[in-house]
Amino acid sequence: TTPLLNVKNLKKHFPVKKGMFGKTVGYVKAVDDITFHVNEGETLGIVGESGCGKSTTGRVLMRLLEPTSGVIEFNGKTLTSLSDEEMRKVRRDIQMVFQDPYASLNPRHTIGKILEEPLLVHTDLDTKERKQKVHRFLEIVGLHPFHAKRYPHQFSGGQRQRIGIARALMTNPKLIIADEPVSALDVSIQAQVLNLMQDLQKEFNLTYIFIAHDLGVVRHISDRVGVMYLGRIVELATSESLYEKPLHPYTQALLSAVPIPDPNYSKEQLIIEGDIPNPAEPPTGCAFHTRCPYKMEICTKVAPQLQEQLDGHSVACHLYEQQVDNDIKQLEGSL
Ligand code: SF4
Ligand code: MG
Repeated sequence: TTPLLNVKNLKKHFPVKKGMFGKTVGYVKAVDDITFHVNEGETLGIVGESGCGKSTTGRVLMRLLEPTSGVIEFNGKTLTSLSDEEMRKVRRDIQMVFQDPYASLNPRHTIGKILEEPLLVHTDLDTKERKQKVHRFLEIVGLHPFHAKRYPHQFSGGQRQRIGIARALMTNPKLIIADEPVSALDVSIQAQVLNLMQDLQKEFNLTYIFIAHDLGVVRHISDRVGVMYLGRIVELATSESLYEKPLHPYTQALLSAVPIPDPNYSKEQLIIEGDIPNPAEPPTGCAFHTRCPYKMEICTKVAPQLQEQLDGHSVACHLYEQQVDNDIKQLEGSL
């Protein structure tokens, strides 16, 4: 089966400008050559620290930001070659849910008006049909239809995220890109919203890209997970394989959530929550080498490519390339 979404060699580089005439002096490679697919009905988690390019990836997929290069195929269409008008039509099939539902809901509009808006843009339902649909979807996300008359500030964070989800569902989308949808919520509320999203996925056969900054949140909701670091996917695997057998040192550190044990690193650097390098001046070779306890000479010179090491489990790290090389040498030696 062809995947619902197929992304090939996607790049988004932002120019860094300086001086009176805005001369371009460099680029921030926010998304730097990523390739992945998402099958219909599955959830792909995308995880990384802030600044790793995960939100930019979401926006580029919807072409809210134009990609620098690469190909995005969605539902049989090549999005990267559509006109703005054609792209506008595709957007009813791809919707976003944002981290801060309060910021994404117009405070001066009632919930009814907020939910009706996508129907006005993307459908030709009449007034009565729109109202019915708004009420139905309020109920579907666990709110009461009378809430349509209220304003965003009258709701709790969890309720607002339910409204954000309802809004995303109004156009019957196929794909929902959820950018840290529960990061701003209390832990107890997070589970409720995650459960709701899983129920909705089954009910409406939704495909999710679920962006998060920690691996814990996406663990139960994701079928596969991609780990990003400074604009690149460094590991991509089924959830089962990734959590049982994390291969990339960065993924291992994220999962252990404890300092990387290396006597050569100062205490501050040991903590994985520490600063990631400036994306405008990323380290040479493997971008993780400044924080990696297993760094080898090659790591500062050559960027490792994402390669499949286990079934459906890919990693970009020289440790494993060497492993393969050594295996080959051993094999040759024994022949
Ligand atoms: Fe560490 Fe080298 Fe692997 Fe990068 S390529 S993660 S620096 S071992
Ligand atoms: Mg973000």
